[in-house]
Formats: sequence, structure tokens, C-alpha cells
Amino acid sequence: MRLFSDYHSHPQGHRLQPYTQALLQPWADRARTIGLRDIAFTDHDRYHECVDFNEIERLREANPDLRIRAGIELDNDPVHSAAGRAWVEENWDRLDFVLGSVHFLRGDWAFDRAGEEAEFARRDIDEVYTDYYERIRRMAASGLVDCMAHLDLVKIFGFRPQQDLSELLDPVLSEIRAADLTIELSTAGWRKPVGELYPSDEIICRAVEKGILFTTASDAHSYVQLGENFERLAEKMAAFGIREVAIFEKHHRSLISI
Ligand SMILES: [Zn+2]
Ligand SMILES: [Zn+2]
Repeated sequence: MRLFSDYHSHPQGHRLQPYTQALLQPWADRARTIGLRDIAFTDHDRYHECVDFNEIERLREANPDLRIRAGIELDNDPVHSAAGRAWVEENWDRLDFVLGSVHFLRGDWAFDRAGEEAEFARRDIDEVYTDYYERIRRMAASGLVDCMAHLDLVKIFGFRPQQDLSELLDPVLSEIRAADLTIELSTAGWRKPVGELYPSDEIICRAVEKGILFTTASDAHSYVQLGENFERLAEKMAAFGIREVAIFEKHHRSLISI
């Protein structure tokens, strides 16, 4: 079983960098080298002004053996996400794929940044999880996303809720299913302090039971991270009996057998 698609990547990294062939071609080269045939660029919506659909089209013409999807990662940034949403609405027909994510919690807290363990330790962890999943539900119901990114990112530093998660998770997954969204299986969690796939085995199990479909993702912030740990992910998927991967073209979903 071989994975062929990576639907979470950040050519701009964490700063504004205009889309050019010089910026994007190394991503195509890397994809080809490691056997990926279908990739989506999903820079953070706060950097949308540097996303250039014409440059993506030129990249497609130069790399006809690859499928290259125009995407964005839309989050709940208290400063930028209003503009990001407006940009997604305006460019909906040019985008293939929109990821939805939550990076901010109560008090505009950017909880997943390095060094935020202390704030996790200070807060009521159950309240943190409840707040997080309420925001996830709002994102899932927004009508602006195709797939939920790193669904249990809140575990990033290994802080676990004391309450039973079932009561929180069931409505979240039902909301995702009702909105007909996919969930990504993201290897990024394996390189974070938690050292665990996003989402957890428990969530994957419940999602499978509900008939939710999956994309495969690395959340690469450099082209060298594309497809990171995909062999390990393939083993995990085989263990769960997941034999299909979702791909998107202009928000239209297809399933490919692996
Ligand atoms: Zn993210
Ligand atoms: Zn990301």
C-alpha cells in the first residue's frame, strides 16, 4: 500500500512569500522524487495575498505528471480570519480545496505555538478542550471548508482532558459528517511533543464508524517535509482498514483506492 497524495502544505512557511516558479517548483520536484502524484498547497489564510492562481497554473503546465491543487488553510485567527474568509468566498471557484482549522482559543490564545505549555498548565484543561471543540464545530459548520485539519491539535503538548472525551467528540464528528466534510490524517503530530498522529486512534475509529472519509497530510512547512512518515501512516491506515483516500478538484471529492 502506497500513499500518493499530500493535502496540507505551506510553500510560504510562516511568512509572506509571493508564489513564483522558484518558490513552488521544489515542491513539485520533491513530490515526484518521493512518489507523490497529487499535492495541495494550503498556505495559511493570513498569507493569502501571496497566493497566485496564475503561478499555480504555470506550475501545472510545467509538471503535467502531477496533480497540483490550489488550496488554503482557513483558521480562526482573531486578526486575520475575517479577511481570510472574504478571500475564500471571493476565490471559491478557483480553489480546489479548503482546510479548516482552529489555532486560537479563549482570550485569542495561539495555543499551538512553541512555549505555550505553561499556559496549558495554568488553565483548566477540560475547559480548554471544551472551548477547542466548540470552535471546531463552528468551523465545520461554516460552509467554507472541505476538510478539517489536525482535528485534535489541542493535544499538541500532551495535556489530556480529565473528563471523558466521548461527550465532546460525538457531536463534533456528527457535525463533520452532516456537513459532508473529510478529516485529514496528519503525520505532523508525530514531530510535535505529543508524538502522536492527528487525530488519535480513538477519533479515527469513531470517524470510520460514522462513514467519514480521509485525506492524507504532512502539514509540511518546507518541501523536505512533504509526505513525511507516509510509510508509517500507510501501516496505520491498513490497521484501521482504511483503503481509500479522498482527493479534491474544485471542491469536488473523489475517492482513490490505495
Ligand atoms: Zn494548522
Ligand atoms: Zn498547516
